[in-house]
Amino acid sequence: MSVFISGANGFIAQHIVDLLLKEDYKVIGSARSQEKADDLMKAFGNNPNFSMEIVPDISKLDAFDSVFQKYGKDIKIVLHTASPFCFDITDNERDLLIPALNGVKGILNSIKKYAADSVDRVVLTSSFAAMFDISKESDKSATFNEESWNPATWENCQVDAVNAYCGSKKFAEEAAWKFLEENRNVVKFQLTAINPVYVFGPQMFDKDVKRHLNTSCEFVNNLIHLSPEDKIPEFYGGYIDVRDVAKAHLVAFQKNETIGQRLIISEGRCTMQDILDVLNDDFPVLKGKIPVGKPKTGATYNTLGATLDNTKTKKLLGFKFRNLKETIDDTASQILKSEGKL
Ligand code: NDP
Repeated sequence: MSVFISGANGFIAQHIVDLLLKEDYKVIGSARSQEKADDLMKAFGNNPNFSMEIVPDISKLDAFDSVFQKYGKDIKIVLHTASPFCFDITDNERDLLIPALNGVKGILNSIKKYAADSVDRVVLTSSFAAMFDISKESDKSATFNEESWNPATWENCQVDAVNAYCGSKKFAEEAAWKFLEENRNVVKFQLTAINPVYVFGPQMFDKDVKRHLNTSCEFVNNLIHLSPEDKIPEFYGGYIDVRDVAKAHLVAFQKNETIGQRLIISEGRCTMQDILDVLNDDFPVLKGKIPVGKPKTGATYNTLGATLDNTKTKKLLGFKFRNLKETIDDTASQILKSEGKL
C-alpha cells in the first residue's frame, strides 16, 4: 500500500514526505524533473520506502496517467500538493489558473481511469485563499470559516497575480468537490481539503536555504534582509507552521471524521510588525540591522480586520499548532545559520 504525493519536492510537501516515512508509509512522489527527483531521494537518504516519478507539467490533463497506470492498484492515499504558488508571473491563466485547475482535474481523472477501486482517500492541498474574500479582509465585522468561499470569478480574479492565485485555488478546490459529486458511483475515494493560511517555518533540509525562498517563507527572509530605514511591507494574513500543515495532511486521511471536510490550518493572524517584533526580540544579531517599526501594534495585539474562525478544524484535527514565536524563531534561525550569522 502506497501514498502518492504530487509536487513532493515543494516546501510543504517535503515535510509531509518526512512524516510519512517516519510513520513507515511507502511513498511515491512526483517532481517536474529527474534532477529534482534525484535530489529529493538523496536528501531522504535514498530511503527504500521512497521513490519518485516525473510529472513535467500538471497543466496537461493526462499528466498523471502514467503514474496511475504504473502504480494505480498499489496507491491507497493520494495527496495532491502540486500547484503554482508564485506572484512573479507573466500570464495569469498559463502560469496560475490552468495548472491549478487542470492539475486537480487531471489527477482525479487518472485515479478514475486507473485506480478507481484502490484509492481510498484523496487529500487536496487547497488554501485559505480559496475561502476568503479579499475585499472583506479589513472588514472587522466579517468572519471566515470552513463554509466560506472566495467569490472570485475566472475573469475578475485576473486583476493581479495575488488575486489570480486566490482564484486558482478556489477553482481547483471547487473542481475537486464537483468531480466527486459527479463520480460518486465510479470512484471509491473520499475527499478532504486542507486550506492553510500563509505557511512559515524551516525548510525541511538546511541545504535548501537559498538567498530567495519559496513564496511564503520569502516574507520572513525579506524582513531579515531589510535595512532599518526600509519601508515595512504591508501584510495582514493568517500564519501557520509548515510542520503543522504537514501533520494535518496525515491526520486528514487517517481519521474518518475529516472525510468531506475543508480544514483551515491557521494558528492566528499577523502583520509584518508582529514578525518584526519576534525577530527584534529574539535575535540580538539583528539588533539595529532591520526595521523596528512600532512594536506591539500588529495583529497579535489588535483586531485589524476580518475574523478567521477555525474552531471546527482544530477540534477535528485534535492537535495544537505552533505559535508565531516558534515558527518565526525556527524560520529565522535556519536562515541566519546558513549565512553564518548564528
Ligand atoms: P512550492 O512552490 O514549494 O511547491 C509547489 C509544488 O508544485 C512544487 O513541487 C512545484 O514544482 C509544483 N508545481 C507548480 N507548478 C507546477 C506545474 N505546472 N507542473 C508540475 N508541478 C508544478 O509551494 P508550497 O510548498 O508553499 O505550496 C504547496 C501547496 O500548498 C500548493 O498547492 C499551494 O497552493 C498550497 N499552499 C501554500 C501556502 C503557503 O503559504 N506556502 C498556503 C496555502 C496553500 P517545482 O518545484 O518544480 O516548481
